[in-house]
Amino acid sequence: MSENYQKTFDRLCLSMRETALLRSTFSLLGWDEQTGMPPAAADYRGEQMAHLAGIIHRRRTDSQLGDWLEQLAESPLCADPHSVQGTIVRESKRQFERHRKLPEALVMELTRTAVQGQHDWQQARAKNDFSIFMPSLTKLVGLKQQEADAIGYSDCRYDALLDEYEPWETTARVKNILEGLREELVPLLQEIKNSDTTIETGCLNRNFPVEKQRRVGKEVAENIGFDFQQGRLDTTVHPFCTEIGPYDTRITTRYDENFLPTSLFGVLHESGHAIYEQGLCKEWYGLPAGETISLGIHESQSRIWENQIGRSRAFWTGYFPRLQSVFPEALRDISLESFYHAINTVTPSPIRVEADEITYNLHILIRFELEQLLLNDDVAIQDLPEAWDDKYESYLGIRPQTASEGVLQDIHWSGGAFGYFPTYALGNLYSAQFFAKSETDLGDLTTQVANGHFDPFREWLRENIHQHGQCYSAGELVERVTGEPLTHRYLIDYLRTKASEIYGL
Ligand code: ZN
Repeated sequence: MSENYQKTFDRLCLSMRETALLRSTFSLLGWDEQTGMPPAAADYRGEQMAHLAGIIHRRRTDSQLGDWLEQLAESPLCADPHSVQGTIVRESKRQFERHRKLPEALVMELTRTAVQGQHDWQQARAKNDFSIFMPSLTKLVGLKQQEADAIGYSDCRYDALLDEYEPWETTARVKNILEGLREELVPLLQEIKNSDTTIETGCLNRNFPVEKQRRVGKEVAENIGFDFQQGRLDTTVHPFCTEIGPYDTRITTRYDENFLPTSLFGVLHESGHAIYEQGLCKEWYGLPAGETISLGIHESQSRIWENQIGRSRAFWTGYFPRLQSVFPEALRDISLESFYHAINTVTPSPIRVEADEITYNLHILIRFELEQLLLNDDVAIQDLPEAWDDKYESYLGIRPQTASEGVLQDIHWSGGAFGYFPTYALGNLYSAQFFAKSETDLGDLTTQVANGHFDPFREWLRENIHQHGQCYSAGELVERVTGEPLTHRYLIDYLRTKASEIYGL
């Protein structure tokens, strides 16, 4: 009997590995589209990708797959839910059921509307006119409501959409934790505003030749452990990290000659994502035991390198002299202390992607609250810009002056991505909690970082997080690694300690 189960399991794995070949090919086409594809190739590339997406969707919803998963779910092979077999079957079944619940007509309509939505959004943003985006946004919200209803939920529609990005998470839990964060962050921001300290940030806006930025980015990525034998760094308008095979993880960045942090922290961020991918178990590539857990955990791995390491005094104690030697004209007269303060300045801005570590989370909370209002029909689409601006005023104390620097700034909704935003804040929360534990486990992490010894920290991440694939859910993992469920306390402690020191609170 168990021999039969083993055979069925092997068939399931073979089929999923074949699907992974197609999925990784799809990723390669996507990477090429954004990095080097000639403009005239766009239409045919669209056809290639749509065709491949169709084949992948059919394979993922094949009833044969469903039969195998049904048999295996009850088998002794899966008795331990955290074993490799148990994980592969549980997570494959979850994904299969989700995909099967979505009628093909709805999937196609969503894809079409998202393409139109992105087009309209770009126009609306360029002309600073929300009304151009209103019709497709209205349609997208309607379709996402249908999607949530098709998938089903026990508490609220948002649960069904959140689950796509953050499996096993619930809206109620996220709401509770983000509101806890707001209660602490809004007063902290006020204290910073009231402080007498002013930070000079002009040193970041000097001239930093792009070629040198490229060299520094590559060097930093390599130092923290991005493996260039299994990856590349390229240039794109919108930076990203993509995985194209077990030994092929690619990151991109953008360069601003007059603003160093864009590429510097961008590369640290994307390298963190890539180091996670490179740390997965190769043997299980294409199967849940060899895949990343959720967008929130993924983001924790990028934030931990970008912020907890990359914006720390320890990191720059070691690396600032090197940075000065690469950019002598720009940084010769700048002290380590001034540079450290400049890269950690806190200033409310209407734009999320430019936000500091403190206000960033409030930008996310605003989107999370508005998405729920939209999905529950509690705000009319035409009233959305005002609702947006009101929340900015109450949480950040600023009111966006135009729709482009307000409700039209992010691409996510135009592509139908509702439920995605909270994963950014969850990433910040997870990163702070993981980091606190790593400090306890590794002893003098500050000295290691100041000396440029990143191996122990990276191995800690690999051992505790990366190598487990999806054997634990995000919630289980954080409890297993840190001994307690996700809490906002670690992030608050980290942010308050840093701000108190810099702003003399
Ligand atoms: Zn990221």
